[in-house]
Amino acid sequence: MIQKNIFKLHPRVQVLANLLMIEARYEGLDPIKITNTVITQKEQKEEYPYNSHNWGVAFDIIRDIPYKEYNNRDNWFDKVGRIGKKLGLSWGGDYPYQGGKTHFEYKGFGTWEELMKIYKVPEAFFATWRVEQPLT
Ligand SMILES: [Zn+2]
Repeated sequence: MIQKNIFKLHPRVQVLANLLMIEARYEGLDPIKITNTVITQKEQKEEYPYNSHNWGVAFDIIRDIPYKEYNNRDNWFDKVGRIGKKLGLSWGGDYPYQGGKTHFEYKGFGTWEELMKIYKVPEAFFATWRVEQPLT
């Protein structure tokens, strides 16, 4: 169940990403693969502005089926998006200009713009994280 760099996400977002994968399977959908989680500023072009991926609260998904990774003919991404929203995630399909249907983020700590106002840099936000107790 652990996928690429998922451990770099905020602990609460890790739980939500895992629940999303589990719920999708429970509903009989093709499996999810997590593709992008935290993108540091070093990893992205310097002129590129901050976004939610810099703050450890966003991840991107594809369908974990070879050659069908971005196939949405059966509305797979929309179905996963609906599950994500049910779990409390914000889904990129609702704001296609910001990542599109592959993108999920958690706004429970505020939007990334609000996080930037409070913490200035992602590292200051990361420093507030602690391992949370499992959800019961
Ligand atoms: Zn994204």
